[in-house]
Amino acid sequence: MPELPEVEVVRRGLAEHTTGSTIVQAEVFHPRVARNQLGGTVEIEINLAGLKISEVKRRGKFLWLELADAALDPTGLCLLVHLGMSGQMLIKDPEAPRNPHLRAKLELDDGKEVWFVDQRTFGYWWLGELHDGAPTKISHIAPDLLDSQADFAAIAHNLKKRSKDIKRLLLEQEIVSGIGNIYADEMLWAAQIHPQQRADRLSIKRLENLLECGREVMIKALAQGGTSFDALYVNVNGNSGYFSLSLNAYGQTGEPCARCGTAISKIVVGGRGTHFCTNCQRRR
Ligand SMILES: [Zn+2]
Repeated sequence: MPELPEVEVVRRGLAEHTTGSTIVQAEVFHPRVARNQLGGTVEIEINLAGLKISEVKRRGKFLWLELADAALDPTGLCLLVHLGMSGQMLIKDPEAPRNPHLRAKLELDDGKEVWFVDQRTFGYWWLGELHDGAPTKISHIAPDLLDSQADFAAIAHNLKKRSKDIKRLLLEQEIVSGIGNIYADEMLWAAQIHPQQRADRLSIKRLENLLECGREVMIKALAQGGTSFDALYVNVNGNSGYFSLSLNAYGQTGEPCARCGTAISKIVVGGRGTHFCTNCQRRR
């Protein structure tokens, strides 16, 4: 499943290849792509044609294309893309062999195409309005760790009010967004915090350090093109990332901890496989 760094890699690729291009035609081939659209596939197809892509943005695991009219005047509209479990946004030439999981595509005025390929169809497109710089559909999603607007002190205080396991809280998108299972395990390992530690028993300083560790882990992943534990995840050019080679906790069950040598353990927290070091991530 693509996490924040993978989505950011896709966003950068899309921004590089599509900014300033006009959408000549949009086609949605699978109704599930438009399941959040009141007017269905037709609403997306009709309204996108003729609009220009002015910017490509992201919050958490959501990315969106901001749309302008021909003169690059903002329309207040955006195309929100959620990649779900297996979604990919690929830049293709029109003559590229058709993918059996192609769910929707945009034809651009420079001859390129943007393909939304999604084997498991958990992803979707949503065409709608922007409010305060984000699509109205995701206005409840909190800023993420890479967002320059994210206030780590405020997030730490918010976490401190909760008595739940810290890992569960990290996975809830309302307090801080964009943290999935892999990065939750990695940031808890980096900050030496037990995944089942109650948040209200951690100091503000340790919580802020945890968020800082999360930001560092994501920046490192971004530099390596995202994590590619799943063959379905590829960036816009179809290349996989290499961050999976430097994971310290996630998927490392039985491997020696890079800090102390203790074998990494696996437990289940909130239904999710959770990897940590029993020696340097003690519960208090
Ligand atoms: Zn350790």
